[in-house]
Amino acid sequence: AKTEGRAKACGYLPSMHTAAVWRLNLEQDLRLALEGDQLQLHFQPQVDGDGRIVGGEGLLRWLHPKRGMVQPVEFIPVAEESGLILDIGQRVLDQACEALMRLDARQLPRLSINISPRQFGQPEFVASIGRGIERSGIDPSRLQLEITEGVMIDNLIETIETMRDLKRIGVGLAIDDFGVGYSSLSYLKRLPLDELKIDRSFIQELDNSNDEAIVQTIITIARNLHLTVVAEGVESAAQRDFLLSNGCHIFQGFWFFRPLPFDALVAAINDCQST
Ligand code: C2E
Ligand code: CA
Ligand code: CA
Ligand code: CA
Repeated sequence: AKTEGRAKACGYLPSMHTAAVWRLNLEQDLRLALEGDQLQLHFQPQVDGDGRIVGGEGLLRWLHPKRGMVQPVEFIPVAEESGLILDIGQRVLDQACEALMRLDARQLPRLSINISPRQFGQPEFVASIGRGIERSGIDPSRLQLEITEGVMIDNLIETIETMRDLKRIGVGLAIDDFGVGYSSLSYLKRLPLDELKIDRSFIQELDNSNDEAIVQTIITIARNLHLTVVAEGVESAAQRDFLLSNGCHIFQGFWFFRPLPFDALVAAINDCQST
């Protein structure tokens, strides 16, 4: 009964149709969503060891008029396969720059956005980031791009060149979901990175202490490479304490904040600054 409720609520469970029809419907709806106003960037605050908000991550939300909230895990893969991710990525960039415009550096020092491998590989990618920043007039160092290890496998040399071009514009660069996928420690030192984000799966496993050694090792390596270390998916005080005592700089997770619509982000910031 529970799965039925969910199926009604989101309407996208593959069991309802064949997978192909499901995908096609979602793709068509996604096109409409782009034309309308259904795709909204939400913001998950990130805090330092003292609990101060030092930044945030923009996370896309799709509020479908009939189907309700559709999760990124459902629509991002479809967006990537169909190429719609390019227009969506532009929308994300614009909304991120606008949020940074509306908040000063004291309120929100930095905002990170997710860049899909497909976007990153576009010849026009660096220029479009540059234009977005110029249009909004924000300090480029307040914007950070999160890329996954997936962009490295195709062409490391080209990846490094693109990243250098982005550093010339002045944006920050983070390696996202670190530790899953094609991790190779050897490329870490070759990339002009500012930040490393430890994947949520390792943080969750901390509770049964399987991954303590892995997390400690990742933090040590990242710190030795002078990268800011961010842990995502922090859900408990115990996880936060372990991470803090092992040198992690920044924390992101439900223990602190969920992803918030812009107005709620502003309220959270004001709340923190008045206490
Ligand atoms: P991600 O980049 O690894 O983002 C972190 C995900 O972890 C987000 O899921 C966030 O809501 C979730 N999260 C944060 N703290 C916690 C926690 O304490 N516990 C748990 N269980 N989860 C937590 P979300 O928003 O569903 O996004 C999923 C993925 O979709 C993202 O993973 C990212 O890969 C992709 N995505 C989201 N927004 C965008 C976007 O604007 N562009 C692109 N290309 N991808 C996006
Ligand atoms: Ca991310
Ligand atoms: Ca992740
Ligand atoms: Ca990711």
